[in-house]
Amino acid sequence: MLKRLFFIVIIALCWQSVSAQHIQSPAEFLGYRAGEKFTPHYRVVEYFKYVAGVAGNVKLQQFGTTNEGRPLIAMFIASDDNIKRLEEIRQNNLRLAGMENGAIMPNQPAITWLSYNVHGNEPASSEAAMWTLFDLVDPANTATKEWLKNSVVVIDPCLNPDGRDRYTNFYNSVRGMLPDASPTSREHLEPWPGGRVNHYYFDLNRDWAWQAQKETQARVALFNQWLPQVHVDFHEQGYNNPYYFAPAAEPYHKDITQWQRDFQVTIGKNNARHFDENGWMYFTKQEFDLLYPSYGDTYPLYSGSIGMTYEQGGIGAGLAVVTRNGDTLTLAQRIAHHRTTGLSTVEIVSQNATKVVDEFKKFYDNSRQNPPGVYKTYVIKNDNNEKVNELAKMFARNGIQYGYGLTNKSITGYNYFTGATEQYTVNPNDLVVNAYQPKSVLLHVLLEPKTFIPDSATYDITAWALPYAYGLKAYGIKESYKPLASSWSVPKPQPLTNTRAYAYVSAWQSIADVRFLSALLKKKIKVRYAEMPFEAEGKKFTAGSLLITRAGNEKIDFDRVVTQTAADMGHEITPLSSGFVDKGSDIGSDDVRFIRQPRVALVTGDGINSEAMGEVWHFFEQQIGYPVSLIRYQDINRTKLNDFDVIIMPDGRYNDLSSDNLQSWIRDGGKLIAIENAVAALVDKKGFNIKKKENKKDDKADAKSKPVIKIYADRNRDAIRSSIPGAIFKLNMDNTHPLAFGFPNYYYSLKLSDDIYELLGEDDWNVGTIEKNSYVAGFAGVQSKQKLNSGLLLGVQSLGRGSVVYLVDDPLFRSFWENGKLLFSNAVFMVGQ
Ligand SMILES: [Zn+2]
Repeated sequence: MLKRLFFIVIIALCWQSVSAQHIQSPAEFLGYRAGEKFTPHYRVVEYFKYVAGVAGNVKLQQFGTTNEGRPLIAMFIASDDNIKRLEEIRQNNLRLAGMENGAIMPNQPAITWLSYNVHGNEPASSEAAMWTLFDLVDPANTATKEWLKNSVVVIDPCLNPDGRDRYTNFYNSVRGMLPDASPTSREHLEPWPGGRVNHYYFDLNRDWAWQAQKETQARVALFNQWLPQVHVDFHEQGYNNPYYFAPAAEPYHKDITQWQRDFQVTIGKNNARHFDENGWMYFTKQEFDLLYPSYGDTYPLYSGSIGMTYEQGGIGAGLAVVTRNGDTLTLAQRIAHHRTTGLSTVEIVSQNATKVVDEFKKFYDNSRQNPPGVYKTYVIKNDNNEKVNELAKMFARNGIQYGYGLTNKSITGYNYFTGATEQYTVNPNDLVVNAYQPKSVLLHVLLEPKTFIPDSATYDITAWALPYAYGLKAYGIKESYKPLASSWSVPKPQPLTNTRAYAYVSAWQSIADVRFLSALLKKKIKVRYAEMPFEAEGKKFTAGSLLITRAGNEKIDFDRVVTQTAADMGHEITPLSSGFVDKGSDIGSDDVRFIRQPRVALVTGDGINSEAMGEVWHFFEQQIGYPVSLIRYQDINRTKLNDFDVIIMPDGRYNDLSSDNLQSWIRDGGKLIAIENAVAALVDKKGFNIKKKENKKDDKADAKSKPVIKIYADRNRDAIRSSIPGAIFKLNMDNTHPLAFGFPNYYYSLKLSDDIYELLGEDDWNVGTIEKNSYVAGFAGVQSKQKLNSGLLLGVQSLGRGSVVYLVDDPLFRSFWENGKLLFSNAVFMVGQ
């Protein structure tokens, strides 16, 4: 008996030691070969968990969850020795960057971070992530063991799990027994909205700096706790394209260093070597530029990493597809390519680890001692605590250090809003950012008034300077000044107790005020707004200020509910003891308008720009907490529109728009908000007064009527003459109109196209207009600039008892144009009351 037990123990021990030497490949674990099936996200996670359980040299971390509840994970892979001191390596790396104090230890390994599947319908990425992990932990793989001696590798297998599962669920649900490689079969044509974007239809590869989405917030927080030396973002592109890897295309932002450019080439050449060995096609230096700061390559570059984009051909390719040149591209091939570049990158970084770490330190030394740009201090004027707080939070999320106030109170600097050098007296609550700090490159990219734009086509918007985006007055100062205090605690509004007010007043100037309104409306509290500025009890209030009167709210425990709501939100309100005001119209006057609690519908579905629609959806649900109903465009003529007070038509192709149902609903008192191409869709529709402004024909050119001989090789350059990839224009605002409440008499708009409209007639309101010299920053083609010299960009038309709001550009674009949120809220809550 004892003998038998001994025997079992021996067998168990042997079995254990054998199993420790074998780690299952994804194929063994999942039960199918690479590329045979798409792996659902939860199975990808299970494989990572499995490896974390059996491999000794890894650490798995869940760092967040998606909107749909899926985990966001990162695996750290290192040598047996380094994995034990992983936290020490992390802290040491931050010391190299000057983000943490302390003695720097020698032998710092280089950190290579591999990010997969940020676009959900580029699914070869996550499959390749599992295989790359396996290669790095497989005990039989001696090459990777060698690389891990001086490298830490981080694998994030899926940056966008909700989007990935949307795509793979679609594909799996429509494929037949065998994949159909014919490009016209439905498995290659994703239905709206597609898997590229996350739950709220945001493109997560446009969100790195803004972090509007929870996936990005969680990821960038982790990224900034580590600051890897190399970051790779794995994508797929159209399936007819050969593989792309960096070095990137021009334009490069001029803050990208020579070392960063050179090492992109070094990495690229190593990838090329492996691709050459296999005879695989690839291209470099084209199409994917390095300017806009919210990509998975530029954001790391501006944070001292070597940021790389890798693109496999594969969007819509399913498990197999016949390409333009007649070859069949399979998922297995796509995985093999990504697996190769991932490992090739780890290999070349390992071969240069000491240099890579040294140069990383140099980047940060230079950032702290010799920051880029002419301005060494930025002062943001604090006209509104809540607006400044939003910017401060954004800086904090990006690791940008800031403070408040200055010792020397008077400064001379470049005024962003006038474009002139002026003197300014600094207040103790003004936000002050000194450029001599670790993240000075990112700071410069985000704050330089005019991004340097070479005259070449770019992939994206070319202007984003934060003072314009946030609508905050700012000064750029050439001297270096340290802020007076590291923090300036905003005085918390004293919670009101035992008040008995005739009415309470709230400001209407920021998204925080909109959130307060939303909270009150959801509690069925009746709210009004002042159409004119007024003064009461020694205080001045601007047009648009919210008035919550006892009258109409008697049924509820009025004072307690209003003051408690304000206190819960840290929101400042002013009690008024009387409706008799010192200046302006009394509270009971006609100039104080009642805000009907709007029932809001948002048009969605086929033809609608899903990202534009998603921005509105996210705004209501996640930013102001107000209900919104989503209705399909195809149903708009059979939906009972009378269930809604406001209908929002986001950007989209509104083919065959029949406006009769809409028009009669507006005439009955509805309010239609049309944005971007929804405005264009209303041109020439009966009842709608909006007219496109066309470029005036050049008479002389007409007279000559000689055909222009174009040069074929110049075709790309010619095309950009009439393009605007996103530039800043200054609008004149009629801020007495509710659509412009809370704004000065100007507004900086991000212009996303050269669309512009004729001024509306005398019965309607031209609220936001431009004239000559309204251009501020960013790339705008010669022809586009000529066209944008006068006309309408924000307008309101009355139609029967209702109204139409025309917003020619998207005020919620990627949710980073902070000041546009108030404009949009005006359209929803203030116009037409
Ligand atoms: Zn992509």
